[in-house]
Amino acid sequence: MAEYTPMIQQYLAIKKDYPDTFLFFRLGDFYELFFEDALLASRELEITLTGREGGGAERIPMCGVPHHAADGYIAELLKKGYKVAVCEQVEDPKEAKGVVRREVTRVITPGTMMEGKWLTDKENNYMAAIAEVEGRSGVATCDMSTGEMYVTSLSGTGQLVLDEALQFRPKELVFYGLAEYPKTTIPTAMIENSQLDPFAVDTQYQEQAKELDLAMRTAVNALLYYIGTTQKRSLAHMRLIKRYDARQYLQMDGFSRRNLELTETIRDKTKKGSLLWLLDRTETAMGGRLLRRWIERPLRNIQELTARLEAVEALKGDMLLRSDLRTCLDRVYDLERLAGRISYGNANARDLVQLRLSLEAVPQLKQLLLQTDAAVLRQMAAEMDECEDLVAVLRKALVDDPPLSVREGGIIRTGYDAYLDKLHTASREGKTWIAQLEQREREATGIRSLKVGYNKVFGYYIEVSKANIPHVPPGRYERKQTLTNAERYITPELKEQEALILEAEDKMIELEYQLFSAVRNEMAKQIPRIQELAERIAAVDVLQAFATVSDERGYVRPQFSENGEYAIEDGRHPVVEAVLDQEKYVANDVQMDPHKRQVLLITGPNMAGKSTYMRQIALITVMAQIGCFVPAKSATLTLVDQIFTRIGAADDLAGGHSTFMVEMLETKHALQKATAQSLILLDEIGRGTSTYDGMALAQAVIEYICEKIGAKTLFSTHYHELTGLADILKGVVNVNARCEEREGKLLFLHRIEEGRADKSYGIHVAELAKMPEWVIDRARKILEGLEAGAATSASDVQMSFESMWSAPVAAVREEAPPAPALPPEEQEIMAELRELDLN
Ligand code: ADP
Repeated sequence: MAEYTPMIQQYLAIKKDYPDTFLFFRLGDFYELFFEDALLASRELEITLTGREGGGAERIPMCGVPHHAADGYIAELLKKGYKVAVCEQVEDPKEAKGVVRREVTRVITPGTMMEGKWLTDKENNYMAAIAEVEGRSGVATCDMSTGEMYVTSLSGTGQLVLDEALQFRPKELVFYGLAEYPKTTIPTAMIENSQLDPFAVDTQYQEQAKELDLAMRTAVNALLYYIGTTQKRSLAHMRLIKRYDARQYLQMDGFSRRNLELTETIRDKTKKGSLLWLLDRTETAMGGRLLRRWIERPLRNIQELTARLEAVEALKGDMLLRSDLRTCLDRVYDLERLAGRISYGNANARDLVQLRLSLEAVPQLKQLLLQTDAAVLRQMAAEMDECEDLVAVLRKALVDDPPLSVREGGIIRTGYDAYLDKLHTASREGKTWIAQLEQREREATGIRSLKVGYNKVFGYYIEVSKANIPHVPPGRYERKQTLTNAERYITPELKEQEALILEAEDKMIELEYQLFSAVRNEMAKQIPRIQELAERIAAVDVLQAFATVSDERGYVRPQFSENGEYAIEDGRHPVVEAVLDQEKYVANDVQMDPHKRQVLLITGPNMAGKSTYMRQIALITVMAQIGCFVPAKSATLTLVDQIFTRIGAADDLAGGHSTFMVEMLETKHALQKATAQSLILLDEIGRGTSTYDGMALAQAVIEYICEKIGAKTLFSTHYHELTGLADILKGVVNVNARCEEREGKLLFLHRIEEGRADKSYGIHVAELAKMPEWVIDRARKILEGLEAGAATSASDVQMSFESMWSAPVAAVREEAPPAPALPPEEQEIMAELRELDLN
């Protein structure tokens, strides 16, 4: 180390404390990165890698970004999951003896971003902490940009707990005291035991902490501790901790959420094509975020649901009111993030004007809501705080269109502060005096071309052209600057006025900043009021969005039954329908109950619409339980406590499990956790192994669900033999996705009908996929042979399968497949390729 220059030594000393971050080291107008940081950053940011002599034997790798453009680069690193420590010069280089003192002023991590430019409007930026204490786990989640904080605790540890945290889709995770650290792709930070005293709760949280159990408190502490080490400011807006019980909500594991494409699609992970995308007709950013939260946490409480549904009903029936509401909501800015910035101390005057404009929309919003016949909406209106006192202050204090900067004046309205007004007057009068000076001096001297001007170096001056110099009054003008064609003069009065103006302006800028800060602090004290109001506005926004979609797409209000009935008439998949356009989608009924129709066994060929049907049912359940109307002619549902899905290809191959293993793990998970109130969707369970194995497993799973769990279940299968279960097991019913064969071609009707499918049409689908004709023909022949002794029910599966693998299969080997016929031009190329001498 000693060989390095003092600056590099300083760098290394600071970097030692921030090993897992990119250290942005301020050097004049640049932030520079050195050593490993430089190597990695130059790759990640595609910036040029250079080097610098640093006293050592070799040049030190270095790269840098201009300080004014740093935000963009920081954002890019954060997006990739990295952390950035910003290290500033904390003394004036002119006054520094030796190396300028530098300090890390802030660590920015993916979970602690506050600035609007790094955040997505309609998405929360959550970070979560998981803490394990004596076999119990606390999960605390917060969004620093909005000030929300949630906490819960669960008995147990491991995946279950991680899943709870992941429901929030945190950008960053903090672990404390975990026996085993889970693998995740999300950036994580670990807090060591020695760094945190679980009982020492920050004073502002002390009151609330009393209501939390030890696991919750530890999680909150871990989260706050981590935030404290990265941010070095007030986090007063995160004062309110909301405790929740995960069991209040409909539970879904991560796989099911992804699979149902609730907030993003499986394929390209975008919002477009998800349920969120379909329902997002919110006008405000807060509404957009709340909608996402609601979708991720459907309710299980009938009172709350009824309240939401009533509101949606009232709004759905009144298009005019809805349109007025939307216009009004459109005037509301992101109150939650404004509140965040205000209390964080980085709100500017424009933010406060946005706060005022938003609050000014509230009276009208209330009035509109009071007109409806839904008691819930009127209640919500009554609870909205118009914050008139805040509006009054903001109106009085701030001009309508202040500049971005809070340090250049131009913020405070005339009449707000007497002294400021006096300074304004002085400055204005001085400027008028100067403006009139030109005319006065022209008259006094008779020099018609005399001009008064201003420049940065000399301030105000009187300019006289060379030719007129003899007319300059002797003694009164003092020469200041000589130009080729003119002389510039000043007079004592001019300088005096100038000093007055400049002094007034300096004072004004300082005073304006002080006045502005005072207003901002006053607002900061009222943050909880603003947050509460924001929450209510967000809810109204989501409800109007539900009403809008429901009205436009012809959704109906779901009813909830107490006796376990589950009946949907003409149900549709909301997203597929929207993408396909309404006429083309084939609506389907569902009829389930706990006794006679508990498990629906769905048969039918690939592509017939089985999984769409299953997803449709899950989505209708989710929509109903977030309080939205549902795509159906009528729907009587039962509240569901958990949804399990096992549909489509598994995507955890990276996790080291085979597809079949993942399928088994997920099925196990469902079998372990499901209750009679759950909904289970299983798509072709058992297909990843040999036929006997798979079918045996599938049958056993169905039996287990029927006899031990009693959950409503949709089970699609290719094993027609399983349809025989309907004869044996009470509660299992066959339905099938109807297809028709016309002129040898397969027609998918997408209609789900009672009874078992007659055929599986796999060969037709292979044909659709343009398999070689030889394979298709051959498969048909084999099938004919097989069908001669085909099974019709589960009880004679064994026998039929034995007969299946007899003669026809052995015969295949006799006949060699013909060489594939290539198009002539490809044959030529092949011939050429064959003749190439690869050596
Ligand atoms: P399966 O699960 O039986 O293989 P899918 O559910 O994946 O079949 O459906 C295949 C395709 O058929 C879907 O991509 C969808 O576009 C279309 N489809 C499914 N159900 C319907 C329906 N009820 N109405 C119209 N098109 C549908």
